[in-house]
Amino acid sequence: MRLVLLGPPGAGKGTQSVVLANKYGLPHISTGDILREAVREGLPLGLEAKAYMDRGELVPDKVVTGIVAERLKKPDTRPGFILDGFPRTLKQAEELDKALKAMSSGIDIVLYFATSPEVAIERLTGRRVCKSCGFNYHVKNMPPKKEGVCDRCGGELFQRPDDTEATVRNRLKVYEDQTKPLIDYYMKQGILKRVSGDMGVDELFKVLSKIFSDAKLS
Ligand code: ADP
Ligand code: ZN
Repeated sequence: MRLVLLGPPGAGKGTQSVVLANKYGLPHISTGDILREAVREGLPLGLEAKAYMDRGELVPDKVVTGIVAERLKKPDTRPGFILDGFPRTLKQAEELDKALKAMSSGIDIVLYFATSPEVAIERLTGRRVCKSCGFNYHVKNMPPKKEGVCDRCGGELFQRPDDTEATVRNRLKVYEDQTKPLIDYYMKQGILKRVSGDMGVDELFKVLSKIFSDAKLS
């Protein structure tokens, strides 16, 4: 099963990806995660990407398409994959189609997570992430037992530099301008499925499972 998760920042793509990856045994490929890791490791790629990310802008197409093309060559993607946060521009979508076609492959379903900007802003500005294990909290909706400390591992919680309100607003604008055209692109291919990103995690997971079984993908 080859999936693309499309939708604004804060729609819950990352959270659902992790659940789906576990359930279906597929690799979760998040360009945001790959870029953040490159930043942490101080790689040249990370140095190039960091300035864009901190401003809430997109990293150049060439950089991200290169990352994804390499990642899709790894054998663990043979049974399928979950692409989270890629493609984000028409150019990226076209490059992805080309790369998959060259491997006699293609995308089965694009899940479009529709979410209102208000929900996205509330989720992202309240998000706190564990420095050690990466688990996500929310100051209001899912606070840790002790403020600033991870329930799971005792690690320190922090706010992503791009989760401040001004940057979140910019990310949403970038999404409107550059990523939204992909809805039409995939609708025309007949592979887009719209779901509501405002639903809870378990509820949405059930909706997605039904989409896969109806499409005879699971
Ligand atoms: P979100 O979807 O919540 O904005 P991500 O973790 O997916 O967060 O991405 C964080 C940042 O990484 C983006 O704002 C952007 O700068 C960069 N990035 C991730 N994926 C891409 C992509 N496909 N193209 C360009 N930039 C990307
Ligand atoms: Zn932790």
